[in-house]
Amino acid sequence: MAADERGVTPQSENFSAWYNDLVVKAQLVDRGPAKGTMVIRPYGYRIWELLQAELDRRIKDTGHDNAYFPLFIPESYLRREAEHVAGFAPELAVVTHAGGKQLEEPLVVRPTSETIIGEMMAKWVSSYRDLPLLLNQWANVVRWELRPRVFLRTTEFLWQEGHTAHADEADARRETRLMLDTYEEVARDIAAIAVVTGEKTPGERFAGAVSTQTIEGMMRDGKALQSGTSHYLGENFARAFDIAYTDVSGERKLCHTTSWGMSTRMIGGVIMTHGDDKGLVLPPRLAPYQVVIVPIGRGEKGEAAVAAARELAGRIKAAGVRVHIDDRLQLSPGFKFNDWEMKGVPIRLELGPRDIEAGTVLMAKRLGAEGKQTLSLETVAQDLPKLLDEFQDYLLARATRFREDNTVGVDGWEHFTEAVGTGWARAFHCGEAKCEDEIKAATAATPRCVPFDGVSESGACVRCGTPSAYGKRVIFGRSY
Ligand SMILES: [Zn+2]
Repeated sequence: MAADERGVTPQSENFSAWYNDLVVKAQLVDRGPAKGTMVIRPYGYRIWELLQAELDRRIKDTGHDNAYFPLFIPESYLRREAEHVAGFAPELAVVTHAGGKQLEEPLVVRPTSETIIGEMMAKWVSSYRDLPLLLNQWANVVRWELRPRVFLRTTEFLWQEGHTAHADEADARRETRLMLDTYEEVARDIAAIAVVTGEKTPGERFAGAVSTQTIEGMMRDGKALQSGTSHYLGENFARAFDIAYTDVSGERKLCHTTSWGMSTRMIGGVIMTHGDDKGLVLPPRLAPYQVVIVPIGRGEKGEAAVAAARELAGRIKAAGVRVHIDDRLQLSPGFKFNDWEMKGVPIRLELGPRDIEAGTVLMAKRLGAEGKQTLSLETVAQDLPKLLDEFQDYLLARATRFREDNTVGVDGWEHFTEAVGTGWARAFHCGEAKCEDEIKAATAATPRCVPFDGVSESGACVRCGTPSAYGKRVIFGRSY
């Protein structure tokens, strides 16, 4: 069969080709004209909007306010925090000319907004009464990518970035963890990605952070996807931007700040956690259409089926379910079935003249190993919310099992290289950056995190044999 007819390259044949085929065939994106840019098409953007709404509600419920800061940042701002500028310099896009003239000071297109928000925080905070200052911004950012991948690494991407200022370390660390827990909840309960939460090793920290916490998901090729990070920035940015306050006793003190972000990368995570050879598999909570009705039949009978589908769709919508009727006349039912499977719609309902006569409807679930089921036309609308919840739970259970099956505790080097070839390894590590680099050079695996729920134990570094540094095993894996 030609590649076009069979849909997408099979996952088992070439995971990366499968992904690249799928994002285009499912009409999520198109490539932008400038290298590394992407056009997010309506179907893909709707997934982002659904995720965004879930996250935004939680950000507000935890006391944060949305604001908007400029896209252009004076280059000098980035230089004020030495580690920050060193970390981001290779990825910066810089505007040197505008309005037909060379600018006096170049402007950086924001790669992240700690610096410009820090400058404003310094203006807005003066007393302990102004704290904590809890801000969030929904925006696009630009990081020049040498090896772009749609959703995973694009030169421009969409995200939210939270930025907060606190009176002391304890409050800032509490905030850092609170937002990581929020990310974990969204990943698990909305995207059905079975993430592991933990602390990044020093070599993997955000540039300028004291501590970086992460949620890591396992993709179906066994690689890790860092899906959200939360940083405790200590006094580093407060010192650089003079974010300070007067405490109760009149003493001037530096604030402790945090930042945290989740991006359109999550859509890549959803694709690679759940998708298969037929296409996308969307968790119902992120599915633009949770249910698609395909009316079947030609001529008068076809028209009757469309009318019955409209009536049914009205009742399904009233039950709070996102439903779509595929009434494209020129296309065969078989084509439509494949099309909605490619687009990952959780539940498909088929409604033909015989079903209408019998008062039934045929249901096919996206991963339906059980085949098609006959349901009552009268009660299906009220049954769908529960069926969708079950599908959502099933996807999370399946992803959790996959992660567990592909994560192994290892002690020897040989066993380690084998484990990170197909999944994740839990291993002791000395914590030395040089040793991490050697592991990466030899296996392409990096420390993903020191998991919060790891058992307390110690042993010899899997690479160099030096005693372990973290009091527990570190998760290693290849990553995106
Ligand atoms: Zn070592």
